[in-house]
Amino acid sequence: MAALDTNIQFLKGVGEKRARLYGKLGIATIGDLLEYYPRDYIDFSSPCPIVSAPYDEPCAIRATVAAKSAEQRIRKGLSLFKVLVTDGQSDMLITFFNAKYSVAALKEEETYLFYGRVGGKLSRREMASPLVFPDDGEAGFSPVYPLTEGLSSKMIAANVKQVLSLTENLDEDPLPAGLREENGLCSRRTALENIHFPKNKEALAQARNRLMFEELFYLNLALGQTRRSARKKAAVSMMTVSMDGFYRLFPFTLTGAQQRAIGEVLADLSSDRPMNRLLQGDVGSGKTMVAAAAAYFAAQNGLQTAMMAPTEILAAQHYKTWSRLFENTDIKVGLLTGSMTAAQKKAVRAQLESGEVQIMVGTHALLQENVKFSSLGLVVTDEQHRFGVAQRMALTQKAEGGLTPHVLVMSATPIPRTLAFIIYGDLDLSILDEMPKGRIPVRTYLIEPSIQPRAFGFIRKHLDAGRQAYIVCPLVEQTDTSPEGLQSAVENAERLAEKDFAGYRVGMLHGRMKPAEKEAVMSDFAAGRIQLLVSTTVIEVGVDVPNATVMLIQNAERFGLSQLHQLRGRVGRGSAESFCILVSEKTDTPRLQAVCKTNDGFKVAEEDLKLRGPGDFFGLRQHGLPAMKIAGLLEDMLLVDRTRSAALAVLQKDPDLTLPEHLALRLRTAKMLDTAGA
Ligand code: ADP
Ligand code: MG
Repeated sequence: MAALDTNIQFLKGVGEKRARLYGKLGIATIGDLLEYYPRDYIDFSSPCPIVSAPYDEPCAIRATVAAKSAEQRIRKGLSLFKVLVTDGQSDMLITFFNAKYSVAALKEEETYLFYGRVGGKLSRREMASPLVFPDDGEAGFSPVYPLTEGLSSKMIAANVKQVLSLTENLDEDPLPAGLREENGLCSRRTALENIHFPKNKEALAQARNRLMFEELFYLNLALGQTRRSARKKAAVSMMTVSMDGFYRLFPFTLTGAQQRAIGEVLADLSSDRPMNRLLQGDVGSGKTMVAAAAAYFAAQNGLQTAMMAPTEILAAQHYKTWSRLFENTDIKVGLLTGSMTAAQKKAVRAQLESGEVQIMVGTHALLQENVKFSSLGLVVTDEQHRFGVAQRMALTQKAEGGLTPHVLVMSATPIPRTLAFIIYGDLDLSILDEMPKGRIPVRTYLIEPSIQPRAFGFIRKHLDAGRQAYIVCPLVEQTDTSPEGLQSAVENAERLAEKDFAGYRVGMLHGRMKPAEKEAVMSDFAAGRIQLLVSTTVIEVGVDVPNATVMLIQNAERFGLSQLHQLRGRVGRGSAESFCILVSEKTDTPRLQAVCKTNDGFKVAEEDLKLRGPGDFFGLRQHGLPAMKIAGLLEDMLLVDRTRSAALAVLQKDPDLTLPEHLALRLRTAKMLDTAGA
């Protein structure tokens, strides 16, 4: 018997070298290995007769070895073996390359299961380099694991088998028996056995169901607990104040949606319950103004606002926008980012602590322990999905006297309601479903690289008309190891400045530049001193330069659908017609065609979920939650709901999970929160 935290090297056949390979897959202990689930299975439960095997599609064949050829050397380093097998009805010729030992292990007259693609002619079927398994009657489904070089699914399966035989403590199920019964879940041991070595399809489905339930259940428990502790506290209270002064600060009228959202936010702020509101609105819908209204309201109440942005570029931009917006008021805006000098930071912190600054914009630097607010009332996070649950919590703990500040989360990523619950907790939702007046939808085109010179001509016309443009590349710089054919910002910037855009002011921006350099480039671009900005995806979130009207994206197939939509959101922010040109050799990519078809962020998100399909684990990772090991299909939404109610029921009875039967739950929930904060 072995404990689950036993080092993986404890297993037979796992030495230092294989342990290192396991390390690459994130597996350190035998418990980790048990939770390393197959990504697929080879179905041996119903092998195909050779005559009716599907052509060139993977399938399993049960056949007996009839004859083996001698080794044939094709050339240096390449040898070939031929093995003739029969299933009693027809023959098949199997070719193995460089497989001396595997072929030697095949015995004539013995029956095996061969898994591969059947080809050849009808008169003589052939198969090349199949996987071979003994026909011991045990092979139902054989697991296929996500691999790293040097490890095979066979090796992993053997190690997992050993773990299953060693770990009797698996019989203690962390899920209370009542809960298992209510939800028709099999035991954890049965589930683990069948997720690795399912006897049949039903057993596999049961195992998946149980493990997914468990995973989502822990997640919901963890989130439920954090939420409860936040709810217990009283909110920093605010009084209703006139907003007339605010509306005079900018030249445009707010959209109906913005007015509605501001109304909802201000009502929350003046209640004694802490606000927890998600403001969802497509790129360019004007979320920042809603946050500014809230910050103004807080400032009139003598309370400070922390505005956290995921990147330095974005923080700097918000700082500029808000400094300008509040220029003629007595509201002072400050900026705190990681790249500032120690002396600068110290000065800013002092202003914050003395209450001299009412709005503090910043990056993660705001979370540091030595950052103290004199009277924090409102926390705004922009593009929230880039922050972890723990980070969000950390910021709200900076309010005085155990009071909970109000929280406004802004996001451009539309997500299904159920998922929003998981990610943001029990929240209220405001939606900006209306674009500022005069916006013309961005036109998106998909072109092949050969047409690029024409696209450059098109961009030059816009620059000549006083507009600005972006060219986005997937790489910062080409290296020996970068995949062939990928465009880099460094190379594009150099080449374009010399050739296609000679005489124009070309700038470059990427994540490896120093913060001060980045900032200089961004402000040059914002001021129009740079006409064409060649960059990586650092400009993906939030960058706002309304005079930019064209964006060209190199190797567009390298980007996800939502990411393309985000990038495209950098243009079309003013009243001039804007264009997005996707350049790709793979113009038949469904993602690329989808992004051309619609400008609507909600439709894009829907399409994205459909196209991503299973395995992308809800995109929880990008929302700062722990990646799920098994849950992940869109169809699992129902299970999300069920586990949520189950978790809430448990917390109702035992809020801190202190009952003895909940010990295992408490440990796992804590672990889940830990990984989320990482
Ligand atoms: P996002 O929702 O993507 O964060 P922003 O808040 O950055 O959008 O707003 C996009 C641009 O639209 C900014 O330049 C902003 O000043 C401008 N804007 C916001 N609201 C309005 C409005 N009601 N009318 C005109 N322009 C607006
Ligand atoms: Mg924004």
